[in-house]
Amino acid sequence: MIAMDNLMDKIVALAKRRGFMYPGSDLYGGVANTYDYGPMGVELLRNIKNLWWKYFVHQRADVVGLDASLISHQKIWEASGHTKGFADALIDCKNCKLRIRADHLIENYLEEHDTDDLLNLIEAFDKGQIEDLKKAVETKKVEGLSSGRLDEIIGIFKIPCPNCKKHDFTKVRKFNLLFPVQLGIVEGDQSLAYLRGETAQGMFVNFKNVVDSTRVRLPFGIAQLGKSFRNEITPGNSVFRTLEFEQGEIEYFFDPDATNWETLFEDWKKDMWDFATKGLGIKEENLRWREHSDEERSFYSKRTEDLEYKFPFGFKELWGLAYRTNYDLTQHQEASKKDLTIVDPITNKKILPHVIEPAVGINRLLLMVLVDSFKQDEKRTVLSISPKLAPVKVAVFPLLANKPDLVEKAKEIYLDLKSKISGFVALDARGNIGKRYLAQDEVGTPFCITVDFQTLEDQTVTIRDRDTTEQVRIKIENLYSYLSDKLKI
Ligand SMILES: [Zn+2]
Repeated sequence: MIAMDNLMDKIVALAKRRGFMYPGSDLYGGVANTYDYGPMGVELLRNIKNLWWKYFVHQRADVVGLDASLISHQKIWEASGHTKGFADALIDCKNCKLRIRADHLIENYLEEHDTDDLLNLIEAFDKGQIEDLKKAVETKKVEGLSSGRLDEIIGIFKIPCPNCKKHDFTKVRKFNLLFPVQLGIVEGDQSLAYLRGETAQGMFVNFKNVVDSTRVRLPFGIAQLGKSFRNEITPGNSVFRTLEFEQGEIEYFFDPDATNWETLFEDWKKDMWDFATKGLGIKEENLRWREHSDEERSFYSKRTEDLEYKFPFGFKELWGLAYRTNYDLTQHQEASKKDLTIVDPITNKKILPHVIEPAVGINRLLLMVLVDSFKQDEKRTVLSISPKLAPVKVAVFPLLANKPDLVEKAKEIYLDLKSKISGFVALDARGNIGKRYLAQDEVGTPFCITVDFQTLEDQTVTIRDRDTTEQVRIKIENLYSYLSDKLKI
């Protein structure tokens, strides 16, 4: 067993050592909260995205895809409320100049301290209304509280700076999370646009385009995979929260008079759970649902639940599921002054559809897969990744690198498998065979094939299974059918 606090360090080290991800702009000292995905990371990320797309678009009859522009009109973000409400409450330590999110500072403090002790301090606070403060202490969440209330909580508990331990903060200030972009090259003649803060708005502003250009009928979903950008301060934790990140979002449009939203909500919960457990192979005991309280839920949402994963730094949101009513389409209809209703072909009723939105951070899925599959004992470190996701599907080794007959035969098998297998196939002749196995175990390669002297005599090779380390010998002509069955390709 590995101590949990150690686990994150080990995963970050392995991710860099084996080419999953590197700190962004590392050569020039780095840009905080950005990451570059290396040869293994990009394969894993792509496999997760392809599986998501297959599961939620190709295998369904009622979802179509979209790929909207990253640069988008400022009016989109005004209508969606992002330019006004989409802000982080930040606070600066006057002593050591650390800048942190006030909600993180407070929530970490609440987690670490006894609820009854904190409630006693709240009771002793005699400046009127304390119900919302008591609720924050009990739920250990401060979402929905004003900047002034956050200031009060920090003051009541005399919360210290996590860096220098002094209690000497500025007032809480709000910073907008959207990245502005200046369009046009002539100064003074530029117009403001934004890098998108979420992919969801692309589905809302293209809702009418999709309806008019395809054969979709309610209920139906529009799905999108792509990058979003948020200018936020984060507490680290690898790729859990970064300035640019990849989202997988679906807006599922329906007529609330014809479709029961509660049933639909439960159906989506089941699909998300199945994708995480059966699709990505995550252990059920590390997942849980958490319903948002009235305070943290957006005012227009009737229900929001998060699928959370037990990361080494605690249970954290992986995937949000929200019933957003028809708030977004209403906002865009009003702001654009264009009719976004559709007409029911049977009843001729005009409908402005409601939506249920499952929204997941793909990079969080990747981090989850790394955490969930990491195993270590005295002998080796292994990523027991589902073969569907493994960055390298198969590695082929010549037993000895200095025997041309073995190398030639290995290369022949490698090229043949490469042409047949969908995914990355590796050929490795460096170092001794034991080191090659260890290197493949660390990136989660399900099968390693070794070409030895017996191969040259009887056209058989050994195949080693990553999880059991057991080896079987099989004929080369049966290799592909053996692998395709095990890899489910
Ligand atoms: Zn400080």
